[in-house]
Order: sequence, then C-alpha cells, then structure tokens
Amino acid sequence: MTDTGKFAIDRERARDVVTAPFTAKQVEWLWHYQFHSRMHPFTCGNRSRGTHPGIGGDYGILIPTVRGWVCMFCDYTQDWAHAFMAEPP
Ligand SMILES: [Zn+2]
Repeated sequence: MTDTGKFAIDRERARDVVTAPFTAKQVEWLWHYQFHSRMHPFTCGNRSRGTHPGIGGDYGILIPTVRGWVCMFCDYTQDWAHAFMAEPP
C-alpha cells in the first residue's frame, strides 16, 4: 500500500473482501455495518421488481448469516463483504 493519504487507504480497504461462510462474530459486525452505520446497506439485486418492501432501512435490504447474505423476499444471495465490515470499526 502506498502512503498517499486517507482516501487511498480507504480504497485499498474496500478492495479487500471476505467470503462466506462467515463466522458468528463476523455476522455480528456485518449486522452492525448493515443496520447501524452510515454506510449504504447491501441490497438485493432484484429489489426493483416491486416485491421487496422497504423494511430494515431500505428496499430489499440483505440479512447477514454465516452462510452469506440472504434476501428476505426472494432467493438472491451474496457471498462476500468488504473485509472491514467483518471487524470492529
Ligand atoms: Zn430479493
């Protein structure tokens, strides 16, 4: 990593990902970032179909589980998260 300032560090962090299965502790932190931070939450790729109510803070918001992210309203899943989301802020 080059030391070119905060934004470069943030971009570097955003490229690092963790993939499912997640640990229980990782799910706790993913939940924190998804529902209790200022980050835009991960959402379902099918949420524009009109079948995804806006609960939990957005339309089609994804739920973190040890098996990966799941949608409450369809079979959409996501198997990765930004690495920093799986750790304490
Ligand atoms: Zn969905």
